[in-house]
Amino acid sequence: MKLLPESQAVLLKLANLQRAVDFGAEERQSPEQEELASAEREYARLVDSAGSAQMAVDDMENEILRIQADERKLRARERDDRKQLSAELDPDKRRDLEHDRYAAKSRIADLMSELQEAHNEIHALRNNRDSQGAQRDEAARKLDVARRAAEAAQAATANQPDPRVEIEQLRGQLPGEALRIFDDQRAENSVGAAEFKAQKSCGGCFIVLPPADQSAVRNAPDDEVPQCPECGTYLIRQS
Ligand SMILES: [Zn+2]
Repeated sequence: MKLLPESQAVLLKLANLQRAVDFGAEERQSPEQEELASAEREYARLVDSAGSAQMAVDDMENEILRIQADERKLRARERDDRKQLSAELDPDKRRDLEHDRYAAKSRIADLMSELQEAHNEIHALRNNRDSQGAQRDEAARKLDVARRAAEAAQAATANQPDPRVEIEQLRGQLPGEALRIFDDQRAENSVGAAEFKAQKSCGGCFIVLPPADQSAVRNAPDDEVPQCPECGTYLIRQS
């Protein structure tokens, strides 16, 4: 390929930029986006467990209300038995009433110990709920920070100049014939042109050329762009 040395520098810039764009073409997640996704998962997990902890508190509170309602009913029954006993003279009826009163009192005693146990449990359950809630709130705060960082990262990416615009500008500086040859070679090995690295290796396939090929590339005329004998990449010598 014939090309003036100053245009060769433009071609190298174009080839490098084009490869960078090709390489980065598939959307990769930024670290901030990954961080955000993980903060979202953590928050969802803690919302779930804080919800379960609250539900356990609710269940135990209902259990306490049930025990207290049962207790009220039994105390009323016990009072009623006592009242009837004060007026009852029939021995059989008195025995039944005494028996019922005894059963009510013993059931009340059982309920009192159930209530004591429930109070102990609800204390632990409320502590757990509070700590789960605090963890959830902390995760919400972290999620908020992660969301803002991801938004900032996205905005920074959006503000970067579009490399495709620069590619068009560089192409505009090159003669049509050189562009056509470059594009053909690029279609073939997806490199097209690359630096002749350290005056001995191809920047396209990274092979160190045999000494005879190295000197052929080195000694080619300044306005000539030699090709890599291995991959066909046009080798641009940096002066
Ligand atoms: Zn090569």
